[in-house]
Amino acid sequence: MKIKDIISDRRTISFEFFPPREAGGVPGVIDVVNRLRAHAPDFVSVTYGAGGGTRAFTEEITMRLRRETDLMVMAHLTCVAQSRSDVHQVLQRLDAAGIENVIALRGDRPQDSVASAPGDAEFAHATDLIQHIRSNFDFGIAGACYPEGHTESPDLDTDISYARMKQDLGAEFLITQLFYDNAYFYDLVDRAQAAGITVPIIPGVLPILSTPQIRRFTSLCGASIPPELDARLERHADDNRAVREIGIEYATMQAEDLWANGVPGIHFYVLNRAYSVSHILRNLNIMGHDGA
Ligand SMILES: Cc1cc2nc3c(=O)[nH]c(=O)nc-3n(C[C@H](O)[C@H](O)[C@H](O)COP(=O)(O)OP(=O)(O)OC[C@H]3O[C@@H](n4cnc5c(N)ncnc54)[C@H](O)[C@@H]3O)c2cc1C
Repeated sequence: MKIKDIISDRRTISFEFFPPREAGGVPGVIDVVNRLRAHAPDFVSVTYGAGGGTRAFTEEITMRLRRETDLMVMAHLTCVAQSRSDVHQVLQRLDAAGIENVIALRGDRPQDSVASAPGDAEFAHATDLIQHIRSNFDFGIAGACYPEGHTESPDLDTDISYARMKQDLGAEFLITQLFYDNAYFYDLVDRAQAAGITVPIIPGVLPILSTPQIRRFTSLCGASIPPELDARLERHADDNRAVREIGIEYATMQAEDLWANGVPGIHFYVLNRAYSVSHILRNLNIMGHDGA
């Protein structure tokens, strides 16, 4: 089944996980996914070397979840610094394993790679990957978009024009980068509509777990932290437990507002920790279905 068909049927709750650096970490990730199954996610996904990290276990976890659970699993796939044939082979393996949906991304260059790596000329952007997938496979396709603009974009208009190109080449829905001021998301939706984007745009929500971690993430992806929230995080910078509670409270407030404003779904960046997302979903009382 294609995720676009689920979205046209109901509002979705989805969870994103990341692969471990070592093989020994795989069971731990599967365990977190299983703990969150009680919330009946409409789909789950596993990042592919996000932030330049390891790609080694993404496929393994994606395929195990497909084989061992009844969850709808979306594969992340990036194309930066990879050859067309390597990317094609990953897609063939995903297809053979019965994965039906892929989020097609450019990705961030692995930290140890050189400025211009093999494959760069073949797949320079997510749009190239989307085009390749649409021409060669029958996957449901998602793409990424950026409420505050992508860090490399000269301006928001240019950025949204590439999101439109993703739709035109075959992306059936978009998931946003994290943000902490919903006004950026609503502005993105307005700009997307004005640019002719008609596919659903699902907001990505990341419950904050630690002050240094969220400062690192936001500085990497160009998202801003509202001053009031930032001041609270600063006050508790050495107390991860307190920050986690602030993160739950803040993400609950964000998600409540987004849900009340009719978003097509919410994609939670779980960071492989079940506690915060479980609490937020209990606070919201939306169990992966459009009951609210
Ligand atoms: C929901 C979500 C999931 C993610 N999952 C992963 C993951 O699993 N692994 C990972 O490594 N990273 C992941 N990322 C991060 C993402 O890879 C980075 O943000 C990356 O820097 C850009 O990826 P993209 O697919 O948006 O690239 P692109 O769409 O290629 O955009 C990159 C830049 O190029 C511009 N651009 C886009 N298309 C064109 C074009 N055709 N011509 C010229 N310029 C263009 C854009 O405006 C932007 O500035 C994810 C991000 C999101 C929002």
